[in-house]
Amino acid sequence: MRQSLVMGNWKMNGRRAGVQALAAGLKSALVGVSPVEIAVCPPYPFLLLAAADIGPGVALGGQNVSLYNDGAYTGEVSAEMLQDLGCRFAIVGHSERRALFGETDEIVAKKFARARAAGLVPVLCVGETLSERDAGRTEAVVGAQIAAVFAECGSGAFAQAVIAYEPVWAIGTGRAASPGEAQTVHAFIRATVAAQDRSAAEALRILYGGSVKAQNARELFAQNDIDGGLIGGASLDATEFAGICRAAAA
Ligand code: PEP
Repeated sequence: MRQSLVMGNWKMNGRRAGVQALAAGLKSALVGVSPVEIAVCPPYPFLLLAAADIGPGVALGGQNVSLYNDGAYTGEVSAEMLQDLGCRFAIVGHSERRALFGETDEIVAKKFARARAAGLVPVLCVGETLSERDAGRTEAVVGAQIAAVFAECGSGAFAQAVIAYEPVWAIGTGRAASPGEAQTVHAFIRATVAAQDRSAAEALRILYGGSVKAQNARELFAQNDIDGGLIGGASLDATEFAGICRAAAA
């Protein structure tokens, strides 16, 4: 039995006062929401601020990690730094990083390896664009994104990891994948991992991300291979995010 996981990706949003208000709002909105693991990924400068106000029941994650270890890499934040700050998770390969910052499958795989080496749980984001879906290439795209991680980290790559299926066409658009559409890809992801490592695949938490709201979360999370969510916009609203967490706990 896999414990559900709901993660909030705050992206590049917030100022100190707003972050503190959101963290405090989450702390009270999430009282009694169990059993579900919950994490938030604030912007780097606000990691400690959020941690102080959100309380110990919510884990922290980084939205990205550097390709490099510590050293002369101006502007970068290493996986070791995130681990030292108390992060448990690190998102790698979010579609915005892939599309806006030129992160290839190979770069993402190296970042995944950095996160693992630092003792973080990597959260590998995978997903196809609308044109790739329309061309019938969803499984080819998602399969290649996963294969790059196996090529970099070996067959045990996903033993302590999370995969988030985030169809690019569903992120921030208000158009979530239907539960059936998402389940089909989640089952494919689990089978792809199982082909290399059956026990890791059974334990692997595969999150769905893309326009999840409290109102559509329950049906998505009821699918066999959907083990929680990676939440963008709705994670900036404490009541809405808590509603999503409750749906995962149900
Ligand atoms: C995301 O950014 O990972 C995401 C899923 O965003 P949203 O929930 O806003 O679609």
